[in-house]
Amino acid sequence: MALIVHKYGGTSMGSTERIRNVARRVAKWHKAGHRMVVVPSAMSGETNRLLGLAKELAPAASGRAYGRELDMLAATGEQASSALLAMALQAEGVDAVSYTGWQVPVRTDDAYTKARIESIDDARVRADLDAGKVVVITGFQGIDAGGNITTLGRGGSDTSAVAIAAALKADECLIYTDVDGVYTTDPRVVPEARRMERVSFEEMLEMASLGSKVLQIRSVEFAGKYKVPLRVLSSFTPWDIDLNEEATSGTLITFEEDADMERAVVSGIAFNRDEAKIAVLGVPDKPGIAYQILGAVADAKIEVDVIIQNVSKDGKTDFSFTVHRNDFEKTLDLLKTQVAPALQAADVVGDTRICKVSIVGIGMRSHVGVASRMFKALSDEGINIQMISTSEIKTSVVIDEKYMELAVRALHREFDLDQAADTLKR
Ligand code: ADP
Ligand code: ASP
Ligand code: MG
Repeated sequence: MALIVHKYGGTSMGSTERIRNVARRVAKWHKAGHRMVVVPSAMSGETNRLLGLAKELAPAASGRAYGRELDMLAATGEQASSALLAMALQAEGVDAVSYTGWQVPVRTDDAYTKARIESIDDARVRADLDAGKVVVITGFQGIDAGGNITTLGRGGSDTSAVAIAAALKADECLIYTDVDGVYTTDPRVVPEARRMERVSFEEMLEMASLGSKVLQIRSVEFAGKYKVPLRVLSSFTPWDIDLNEEATSGTLITFEEDADMERAVVSGIAFNRDEAKIAVLGVPDKPGIAYQILGAVADAKIEVDVIIQNVSKDGKTDFSFTVHRNDFEKTLDLLKTQVAPALQAADVVGDTRICKVSIVGIGMRSHVGVASRMFKALSDEGINIQMISTSEIKTSVVIDEKYMELAVRALHREFDLDQAADTLKR
């Protein structure tokens, strides 16, 4: 008998029929003797619908007061799906109860729309589990010290589930979704992508941070910090499949790097269209320039990702970096009105039609020439690289967004990721 946390994403909770399926699956685990906590997302499309209503009413709104109301609004999606799931479980003859984040409570900081979980009180949940109940807890939300409802950022139910699993010291956290595991890249972009049976925690962390939305990055960080056994699997298998078969399906996030994993140089490809590029042109090439530009950006609480500074010509240089697309206008405005005049920069230009494509693999540590293979594969497709950034286990390039899918497919081929698993001994 184990304590298991299940998480079901929006598509998995997308209709009453699907919620019934989830309930039957959970009931199967409960009847097998496991203590069950279930964390659902809002029904698919619901969070977008709610945020769309807010945008209609207040298109230009921003700030803390607005952020608070956004969270108040968005959290209702998960409240509804959780109640529906508890009812569906009761209809299956299972004693079930649902709680919102504030009822547990899941305590967070007060950074509305992107709050971080600080602690989870497990007393109420434990008492219910001891009484034999299945406990359903809303994903995506918590409560701050002032008693305000907060949400954890898009995709945040993954993080709720892993954090709850950590707080309860659960034996495993199973993330049920609309694909049957973590693939070498998004299977919706590359149909030849392969499911990985295991992926190392470090690689999963990079994949998530570089754009693979199958797990929210913070959920992977939590899993690493508290060593929560984590598995990604399909919610679309028949609910009554053999429990042991289900429990070993999908992709396991492992904390040990086994010998086989070292053999694949590149394990996966991630991409995102979330960033925009900004260049400050013709700034004097002298000490303190990077600080003057990026310091101002940091002071405005804007995160910067890839950075490059060109070699100087006639004592002048160009300085480029990327920010999240949501911060693009704000950053451009800040640079044009404050930073560029002070530095006597020639111009500030921006481009939102970029994307970042990354190769990820712990095998890159022990192999040289991986990045140049990447650059060659892109050049063979005629794709121009605008920026490059590397770390021990990843190389990212910024390219024109219209070539994103072409680049991902070319790299997937170049690094043999479509080969059968046994050829690669993954
Ligand atoms: P959920 O609603 O269950 O949280 P998400 O849409 O957040 O589901 O995440 C699942 C989606 O992630 C898949 O449908 C897939 O398109 C996408 N995805 C991106 N990269 C990967 C990858 N490497 N492996 C699997 N799925 C991926
Ligand atoms: N419903 C929220 C979202 O769409 C949280 C989640 O699904 O994980 O982002
Ligand atoms: Mg998700």
